[in-house]
Amino acid sequence: MSLEIVLVYQSLLGIYGDQGNAKVLLKRAQWRGIDATLTQVEPGDALPDSGDIFLLGGGEDGAQTSAVRLLKADGGLHRAVDRDAVVFAVCAGYQILGHSFGVGDADDLREGLGLLDVTTTRGPERAVGEILTHWNGHEGEQAWLTGFENHGGYTALGPQATPLATVEVGIGNGDGTEGAVQGKVLGTYPHGPVLARNPALADHLLEQALGHGLDPLERWEHDELRRQRLAAVRG
Ligand code: GLN
Repeated sequence: MSLEIVLVYQSLLGIYGDQGNAKVLLKRAQWRGIDATLTQVEPGDALPDSGDIFLLGGGEDGAQTSAVRLLKADGGLHRAVDRDAVVFAVCAGYQILGHSFGVGDADDLREGLGLLDVTTTRGPERAVGEILTHWNGHEGEQAWLTGFENHGGYTALGPQATPLATVEVGIGNGDGTEGAVQGKVLGTYPHGPVLARNPALADHLLEQALGHGLDPLERWEHDELRRQRLAAVRG
């Protein structure tokens, strides 16, 4: 099967390097002999109805407000969710998938895309620094997720969404949980890029899109990166 990875609005949601998540998915699929392609969609382009995994990254308040307006007009992300495609969104991308999010010091409320049952408002302090979480429902060394968070918004989950992980170090959603999962829509706060730091999460997204499991890939340099990042955050 071929796999189309769609990187959405890198020019708006690309300041934290989250576009690296697209490269990680592409390479991990290709290393397994899967015919994977990357489609980059910028404002003004239509989102393809053929995409299998849609990726959104972090960005400033203004950029995320523009992105949500464009994505509503396009409608392609809603169609993607309706046909059970995978959506993986980081930080600002995560916030705009929710019902609403606050921007600026006044926490002005903006309507989101409503694809995740979450709402985001300003928290008591900006969350900046290394974050370590434990991936809910997963065991072993790969269940530790590391990344770098930098956000003012804190996110509350409604009953349709479940937290992706539990916070060990850092802020995440702001209530001890991190990220949200609803069907094949996943949102999370860490940058890194998070899929470079956590290959098991990358493989989970590939498996969700492909509809079957994947054999593990042995890459010593990925293990070494994880060892260093885990040691750094654990202190
Ligand atoms: N502007 C949002 C916030 O500060 C998202 C920031 C980000 O994407 N890193 O909460």
